[in-house]
Amino acid sequence: MSELEKEIHKRRTFAIISHPDAGKTTLTEKLLLFGGAIHVAGAVKSNKIKKTATSDWMEIEKQRGISVATSVMGFDYDGYKINILDTPGHQDFAEDTYRTLTAVDSVIIVVDSAKGVETQTRKLMEVCRMRRTPVMIFVNKMDRDGRDPFELLDELEEELKIGVCPLSWPIDSGQRFKGVYNIFHEKLDLYTPSKQTVTESVEFKDISSPELESHIGDNLAAKLREDIELIEGVYPSLDIDVYLKGEVAPVFFGSALNNFGVRELLDCFVQIAPSPRPVEAIERIVKPEEPNFTGFIFKIHANMDPNHRSCIAFVKICSGKFERNVNYKHIRLNRMLKFSSPTAFMAQKKETVDEAFAGDIVGLPDTGNFKIGDTLTAGEDLHFKGLPSFSPEMFKYIENADPMKSKQLQKGIDQLMDEGVAQLFTNQFNGRKIIGTVGQLQFEVIQYRLLHEYGAQCKWEPINLFKACWIESDDKDQLEDFKKRKSQYMACDKEGRDVFLADSNYVLNMAQQDYKDIKFHFTSEF
Ligand code: GDP
Repeated sequence: MSELEKEIHKRRTFAIISHPDAGKTTLTEKLLLFGGAIHVAGAVKSNKIKKTATSDWMEIEKQRGISVATSVMGFDYDGYKINILDTPGHQDFAEDTYRTLTAVDSVIIVVDSAKGVETQTRKLMEVCRMRRTPVMIFVNKMDRDGRDPFELLDELEEELKIGVCPLSWPIDSGQRFKGVYNIFHEKLDLYTPSKQTVTESVEFKDISSPELESHIGDNLAAKLREDIELIEGVYPSLDIDVYLKGEVAPVFFGSALNNFGVRELLDCFVQIAPSPRPVEAIERIVKPEEPNFTGFIFKIHANMDPNHRSCIAFVKICSGKFERNVNYKHIRLNRMLKFSSPTAFMAQKKETVDEAFAGDIVGLPDTGNFKIGDTLTAGEDLHFKGLPSFSPEMFKYIENADPMKSKQLQKGIDQLMDEGVAQLFTNQFNGRKIIGTVGQLQFEVIQYRLLHEYGAQCKWEPINLFKACWIESDDKDQLEDFKKRKSQYMACDKEGRDVFLADSNYVLNMAQQDYKDIKFHFTSEF
């Protein structure tokens, strides 16, 4: 194996996703502790945007600051190089999370054992499914009274539409939680509430051995044997290829807060989770081991300092080796660029790096060259496929509130849209601009940033819209007829594509019925 291949194969780039409060931050922190990347608990700050008062923008800015520091957390563990990509906890920033998922090779989903599958988990899983991302599940908070584990597995399968394969199994829960039988490593991991963590780990290849009773007592031993027998009958044993195809999720039980079951999860994860996977470009499939560097921008983070309008563009390296001060081709601009201070993210520190490999994330200081989805290569003309934009859920007209600053407003809107903060639609009939978001908070962030970073003032005006959908048809006449009849409701997205603005579900249904040869799409890529 070449040096390049070795570097690439030891990389594990993934994201932890969960519904807020399931324990993502806590789990991340414990993983970093194992990697020696941090030394004290409490070092990882939640990036949850807590909405205190609508006017408390300093708070959001501060929290955005935290989120750049924790955008990527890299550390070494057991000969592996691990990159954890952080995702915003607040659902109003779900688009950000979707895009981050384009840059990972696998995902760990955290589920609260008492709450089971929650809305945000369901949505994020849909994105994983679209991309066939391999998924592992950590059922957290076993130290609390939770639901019956079999019932939980059923729910995971049903709600997340993925097969499950338990690799550890809880012995009781809540106050009486005794630990887990670790199916993957064939051992018994015991838990003592006062001591926390794994107090004792006993190898147990054969759980019919009477020794089991001496550890957990007669009743629990009998129950565990019964459970394991049932599991073996009902669930397939772990098939790594099926996991890698994203069809089955290995499941672990534990308690992140008590550091229980976390190392076991990590040990299995590094063993079975994929190293960087091939990435699809429009032209061809790019393999990570190819020597030439390629990568794409999946996230742009604006500087918090309004006096320096520079950003950090985050590149996921898809193949080869990236080097400092080497010329790379920015495909969209058709220009060679080199980077003198690319940053890598080790633990929670940013540092300048000379080289990075497929699987890694590099931060490039940028003054407006990059948009989300841009491709960089060593010279080849490639375009990586991104994640489609989803049809937004909330809409408002954006209007200029300061006639002297219309240029600034225009520029601000353009740049914020390039950063992927929200989606812009321009009404073809009257030219008014409409911003579409997934949550109210995004409108507030846009208004704030336009003012503080661009000196522009905007105001919002309501628009009654149910959905924006991209339309296309092979029947050009029908399409033209539709556009003419609905001219007041036609808009363009920022690439100039036709978008139909339906003001109610009824109108949308009628349109779909009346125009059978027109396709109505709810994501921008089709
Ligand atoms: P996030 O929103 O998913 O990042 O969740 P956090 O990691 O911030 O955790 C939410 C709350 O659950 C915090 O108060 C944690 O201390 C708590 N928590 C996390 N893991 C556990 C656990 O295993 N057991 C218990 N009892 N509480 C936990």
